[in-house]
Amino acid sequence: MSRHYDFLAIGAGSGGIASANRAAMRGAKAAVIEAKAVGGTCVNVGCVPKKVMWFGAHIAEAIKYSASYGFDLKQQGFDWATLVKNREAYIERIHGGYQRGFSSNGVDYIQGFARFIDKNTVEVNGEQITADHITIAVGGRPTKPQIPGAELGIDSDGFFALTTQPKKAVVVGAGYIAVEIAGVLHALGTETHLLVRGDRPLRSFDTDITDALLSRMAQDKLPLHTHSNVQSVEKQPDGLLSLTLEKGQTIKDVDCLVWAIGREPTTDAINLAAAGVQTDEHGFIRTDKYQNTNVPGIYAVGDVTGEAQLTPVAIKAGRLLAERLFNPALPDAHMDFSLIPTVVFSHPPIGTIGLSEADAIAIYGKEQLKIYRSGFAAMYNAITPHRALSSFKLVCLGAEEKIIGLHGIGEGMDEILQGFAVAIKMGATKADFDATVALHPTSAEEFVTLR
Ligand code: NDP
Repeated sequence: MSRHYDFLAIGAGSGGIASANRAAMRGAKAAVIEAKAVGGTCVNVGCVPKKVMWFGAHIAEAIKYSASYGFDLKQQGFDWATLVKNREAYIERIHGGYQRGFSSNGVDYIQGFARFIDKNTVEVNGEQITADHITIAVGGRPTKPQIPGAELGIDSDGFFALTTQPKKAVVVGAGYIAVEIAGVLHALGTETHLLVRGDRPLRSFDTDITDALLSRMAQDKLPLHTHSNVQSVEKQPDGLLSLTLEKGQTIKDVDCLVWAIGREPTTDAINLAAAGVQTDEHGFIRTDKYQNTNVPGIYAVGDVTGEAQLTPVAIKAGRLLAERLFNPALPDAHMDFSLIPTVVFSHPPIGTIGLSEADAIAIYGKEQLKIYRSGFAAMYNAITPHRALSSFKLVCLGAEEKIIGLHGIGEGMDEILQGFAVAIKMGATKADFDATVALHPTSAEEFVTLR
């Protein structure tokens, strides 16, 4: 048995789904192949379950604030298993939505693991499938360190598989995932330690923002261990874990160790060599701006490219690729990787677009820049004993004060950023912000009233 398609996506994650659907909408005979669950990392072990857990943590924080709002609540407990059950049921509904989307667009969904046979052929479940255009959208997986006992820890996939709440957790890493998982665990009541090997997490972010994050972590009593590298992990006689750090300290009685030290592309098992597709030294498939690999007719989108590993980027790149291939009106369609807004679902969330102050200085020089800052207590927590500062910042360039960086940490920052990202993408200046009437009372208004 063999089938032939105009367009074949390997991997039904954000990029694969988006590209296959758009190709089919433009008249191509399209299919997508998936080895695990439809939706990929984002839907199954990433953005979606993370945001559900973050909302749970948000409710835990609201309960903490509730007495100041006059509520006399008796918290009877928190059932992790219920949250996980409802989260997974929601994900099941999303799976159904994807399948309905494939049906209505006429995309074939093929369950199985694809390996290249040659540049136009893959093998799945013993069947050879050929296609004129093949898009590799296989994503990535978490990495673990090469140290004794590393296998005793879990990764972000393992975190989402937890059906009971850990009592004492250690999260190792300094990126989005480490900050988000540590924040959720801590807010939900697990004793949580965040270990970073440098002086702070999120080192590539603007330091005013990470300074504010550090203050909030200290205020919320989330222990952050800086300059801390785990040397080895051992199982104690009682089954709990003991971590030995390079500096000689130990952290004992840990029932949940989460490695969140980065992700690697899953390109090792799909037999890229048979198609002649090259990777970089880390296994990422680098592409040109049109998502072309080094082999004509083979493309890559999403995390596997190593470029801005964010779901909306994979979706946009996938759709634009399909437009370029199958919509004669858009022969030059391609993803614009500049000014990508991004949110870290920390506590409170961080939103950022454009250059940090340090990066802007490195590119343009200090004298070309004007920086505007605001530190303020959001009304939400200002009336509680947990009064905490939000921190907002604009990085402006030149005499016209074009906004080249907008950064914030504070309640609502995740929702605030999107609209400002539109303005900045359109080239907004500080004067444009100032000319906009503030929405009062909100945190967002700070961005249009900065002095
Ligand atoms: P990242 O690559 O962002 O961060 C991992 C960090 O861990 C490194 O930057 C490094 O920071 C630190 N690290 C690396 N090796 C070690 C080690 N051996 N021991 C201790 N620390 C180490 O990876 P993530 O897995 O957090 O996230 C991957 C990507 O997924 C992100 O970059 C983001 O694009 C995406 N993502 C986006 C989310 C969102 O949009 N909200 C949420 C989650 C993920 P340092 O050098 O400072 O030590």
